[in-house]
Amino acid sequence: MRKTPVLAFLLCHWIYLGSFQSTLDRVPVGAVFDRNSIQVDTAFSHEVQKKNSGSGHQRFELQNWTITLDVTDSFAVSNALCSHLSNGVFAIFGVSNASSLATIQSYTNTFKVPFLTFSMAQNTSSNNSFQIYMRPLFVNAIIDVIAHYEWKRIYYIYDTDEGLIRLQQLFQSVNMHEYVLDINAKRVSSVENCYMVLKDLHLMGSENNQHLVLDMEIGKTQDVILKVKTDPDINNVKFHFLIAELGILEMNLTHFTIGGMNITGFEIIDPNNSTVRTFLDQWANMDSKQWPGAGQKSIKYEAALAVDAVNLFIRAIGKIRGTDPNFLHNRRFKHTGNKGIKCTDNSVIDTDHGSRVLKELKKTQFNGITGRVAFDDHGHRKDFSLEVYDVAMNRGAAKVGHWNEKDRLVLQQARLLRDRNRSSRDQNRTQIVTTIQVDPYVKFKTHPMQGRPLVAKENLEGFCMDLAQAVAENVGFDYDVRFVKDGAYGAIMKNGTWNGMVGELSRHEADLAIAPLTITAARERIIDFTKPFMSLGISIMIKKPENQKAHVFSFMDPLSYEIWMCIVFAYIGVSVVLFLVSRFSPNEWHMCDDSSITNDFTISNSLWFSLGAFMQQGCDISPRSMSGRIVGSVWWFFTLIIISSYTANLAAFLTVERMLTPVESAEDLAKQTDIHYGTVSSGSTKMFFKNSKVAIYHRMWSYMTSAQPSVFVNSIKEGIEKVRTENGKYAFLIESTTNDFYNQRKPCDTMKVGQNLNSNGFGIATPVGSELKDYLNFAVLELRESGKLAQWQKHWWYDQGECTTESTSTDGTQSALTLQNVAGIFYILIGGLILALVTAVVEFFYKSRVDSRKYKTTFGSTVRSKARLSFRGHSDSDEPTSPPRKTLNTYTYTGPTPIVGVDTYQDGNTHTQV
Ligand code: ASP
Repeated sequence: MRKTPVLAFLLCHWIYLGSFQSTLDRVPVGAVFDRNSIQVDTAFSHEVQKKNSGSGHQRFELQNWTITLDVTDSFAVSNALCSHLSNGVFAIFGVSNASSLATIQSYTNTFKVPFLTFSMAQNTSSNNSFQIYMRPLFVNAIIDVIAHYEWKRIYYIYDTDEGLIRLQQLFQSVNMHEYVLDINAKRVSSVENCYMVLKDLHLMGSENNQHLVLDMEIGKTQDVILKVKTDPDINNVKFHFLIAELGILEMNLTHFTIGGMNITGFEIIDPNNSTVRTFLDQWANMDSKQWPGAGQKSIKYEAALAVDAVNLFIRAIGKIRGTDPNFLHNRRFKHTGNKGIKCTDNSVIDTDHGSRVLKELKKTQFNGITGRVAFDDHGHRKDFSLEVYDVAMNRGAAKVGHWNEKDRLVLQQARLLRDRNRSSRDQNRTQIVTTIQVDPYVKFKTHPMQGRPLVAKENLEGFCMDLAQAVAENVGFDYDVRFVKDGAYGAIMKNGTWNGMVGELSRHEADLAIAPLTITAARERIIDFTKPFMSLGISIMIKKPENQKAHVFSFMDPLSYEIWMCIVFAYIGVSVVLFLVSRFSPNEWHMCDDSSITNDFTISNSLWFSLGAFMQQGCDISPRSMSGRIVGSVWWFFTLIIISSYTANLAAFLTVERMLTPVESAEDLAKQTDIHYGTVSSGSTKMFFKNSKVAIYHRMWSYMTSAQPSVFVNSIKEGIEKVRTENGKYAFLIESTTNDFYNQRKPCDTMKVGQNLNSNGFGIATPVGSELKDYLNFAVLELRESGKLAQWQKHWWYDQGECTTESTSTDGTQSALTLQNVAGIFYILIGGLILALVTAVVEFFYKSRVDSRKYKTTFGSTVRSKARLSFRGHSDSDEPTSPPRKTLNTYTYTGPTPIVGVDTYQDGNTHTQV
């Protein structure tokens, strides 16, 4: 009794299943795949199985027969087709090539069975062709890209008959667009052959860039470009490859980010599309043993076309069944009933099932994983969109736009591609931090007497080491520190690759760079930077000049050497003019008591008058004539201004210690050639000058590149050593923070001059796409906001300073006047007194000699009597002394009586004329 309900349940279940089974129609389909298209086969079979096992409300299932063969073998292909036809298939899916396509077309057109192909689309004008081309015709996209780059000459390199057909399509389209394009086509037989062709092209080619359209399978294309990239004889920068195949993302583009070459290509699968992402998640979770080619995060575009083809067919059949539920049952063949078609028997189809399916396939539209799936009357894809990707020199791989038939090529701002192959699992391993040894960023804790300590974070200290420690704790990773192998910061080399820390990051040899590495646009294209952890700018470091202390003749400094010379000449000139005008002017002549006519302004008196006026002392004589007074007035005015200016500056020049730097700014440097100047090679400072459009910096760059011997140095240390040893003849262009630090280090003989030339910052760098970047950004911002960065900077820069700040001042410091400052005037005073004494002695002996001759006495007795006279005030001997002296200023006329005209003028004055 208890068994009854169980039996009843089983019976019901059997009946239910039976009834369900009976309504589940079978739709036979065939597939013809190439032996090498494993992923296509997998994608197709899996999609069919997914449909059959799914809970879709359309009650039919696909019954598929798959034949894998060599598609170039037309005989095998026709056998496969006949085999499928004999099974009564509703459609055939498959790949074809140029030679088998004709066979396929003739069979499918004759027996009216739609053929959904994933291979290259052919131009066809027939509406009755039973081909549905899943792969879009995109020759116009190629032309638009060529036109965008304004290429006038291309090399079209292909390796198959399809390539040749595509080339023909290109020619037709170029003609249609009336675009002037010189196409040089070359068929190659293998990757090696293609590489040799490119090499020859490069070697014989001109300096100009070479534009190559590569029409080969994506895998082969990648091999060719890799070979070119790694050939040291080839300057990659010259090549720009345009890939005439869809699926550029199937290449590992990160290989080429540092190659220097440009690569442009198309992709039909948009990895950011949600349908694609869902599909790829499932695809990645498939067991690759059961489903060869699956189990990865990406799919080849041909396989994606297969998936969309299955869905297209399912939708089309579903729609037909929706309007005609018996569609699948009422198909009849002449000879075989509803079994199938016999190619050999010339079986002919009675019903037009094939045409109906074809029509419905062309009408069906949906969003697949290859974008919009829709067809025109010729069975070609329409309304599709292609993503345009570009690997550009200095930037790396990026999406640069998209193409569709309506809008044509639409460019957008380049969006860098993330490296899909790196997983978040990378975060958990020990991160390799690359850095560079520069005080005070990174240095060894101790300096052993012999050898070098191991490069390990335990042995290193400095600002960047504190930073590394803090961010590692904040983000939560462990790290090892290594010094960059080539000791460079990072610059782009001739072959387009990067060296230094930037190169190591771009090649994924390190995970982070925590170093004084400057954030620049060129670097940002191939690596990521966090927000800056330090702000700085390019500055000038020079050797400190000797302090210009006040010297004994400092009182001369207020006026320049030239002014002093001019004053001396002016003084002599004025005295001479005064002498001359006094000679000419009758007013300067006057009678003496002894009736002689005198003129006060002898040459010595004129000099004395001018000197007295210049020294602001005046003189016991002064001009009486108009002309003499004019001379006197202008001279007084002149001396007034000069002496006032002198006095105004005197105090400052006596008391200020000046540091006269030979250059004060970049302009000063650019103007001269006596002092050489340079930068670190392979660094951002050098790049700044190289790329600068500012005239002064451009001039400096021209000088630096032409200077012999080279003004570039390999490290900051070397540059500073050069500044110190070249005695002020070398200025080093160095970042301000580093400049400030070294100016605080013994022997305190360097200094920073002028303003910063630019402003930028140091950032922590990571390879493009590193998951750490965002966390590092937060960490840096937190450290900045908490004041930790400022604290470390103070600690490493100023707390450890070894120089006094006073010695680095350029604007001078005021101090009390010391004897040293004014010693010069004492010297002059003493010198003057001594000179006066000497002159007196000379005068004395000279006079004694003259008198001894005159009065015929001995020189000795004259001296003695003069000496007695000098000390007692009178002569007490009978020895003759000199007769009473005439007034020095008197001119005694001894000639004939001069004609003296005395004119009496109306003004009552008397004017005497000699
Ligand atoms: N910090 C600089 C850099 O990152 C070095 C320099 O060029 O002065 O390249």
